[in-house]
Amino acid sequence: MPAISTKKPYRVGRSRTGLGLFATKPIKKGAKIVRYFGPLLDSRKKKDDAIENKYLFELSGRWTIDGSVRENIARYINHACKPNAESDVMPRKRKVVIRAIKNISPGEEINYDYGTDYFKAYLKPIGCKCDACEKKRKKKRAEARAERLRLKAKAERKALKKAEKQAAKARERLEEELKLELKRSLNGRANGGKANGSKANGKLANGKLTNGKHANGKHFNGSFSNGHGRSKVPGPSAAAEPKASTKLLTPATAIGQEQQASA
Ligand SMILES: [Zn+2]
Repeated sequence: MPAISTKKPYRVGRSRTGLGLFATKPIKKGAKIVRYFGPLLDSRKKKDDAIENKYLFELSGRWTIDGSVRENIARYINHACKPNAESDVMPRKRKVVIRAIKNISPGEEINYDYGTDYFKAYLKPIGCKCDACEKKRKKKRAEARAERLRLKAKAERKALKKAEKQAAKARERLEEELKLELKRSLNGRANGGKANGSKANGKLANGKLTNGKHANGKHFNGSFSNGHGRSKVPGPSAAAEPKASTKLLTPATAIGQEQQASA
């Protein structure tokens, strides 16, 4: 690293891309910071024209400064797309000076825009790492992350909706089945349990109430149930015959008892 006089308002230090030039004192906007310095190359001379490095600073069609020499402190200044300094080119004097275009505070890195040609040749292929470009990349990454999250949330909402729909359908089916089951069970009781064969139904239907006393009893069989039942189900079993519903049974029973009582 070259020795820099303590009078100078800058020092060489570590930067994002390697080394860089940093302000050590406040630098006023418009102030000259450092000269971009090196031997002049004449493009008309074959030997000069053959020189190739990243520190060549073209002044005109003919003259170029070769800034690769060690004494050229300005070569430590990195490129930035939104810089705080600029290269002030004086072709007639064959001189380049780096000048502040903003007030620069101590500790801040000094940058200038290297220009389109340099950017295309050296920075675009590897990706510019200046603050502005890093910020842009960060923003893009954050946006991509947010977009991914948004899509994920959307997919989750969709899946949840689907699951809710399926659950509602399942609930509906279950309710339907329960209703059917209830109907069957009610019919089973009324039909004397043979058709359903369930124990609970069998007990009730084959028990005293239906078969024993009332359903096969005098009055019930005689007046209501037989005619009605036969026309619908021509069953051979006498026990299964009465087709009356529980609704029918109750008043029939009441009537039967009444009639029995009055008889
Ligand atoms: Zn940049």
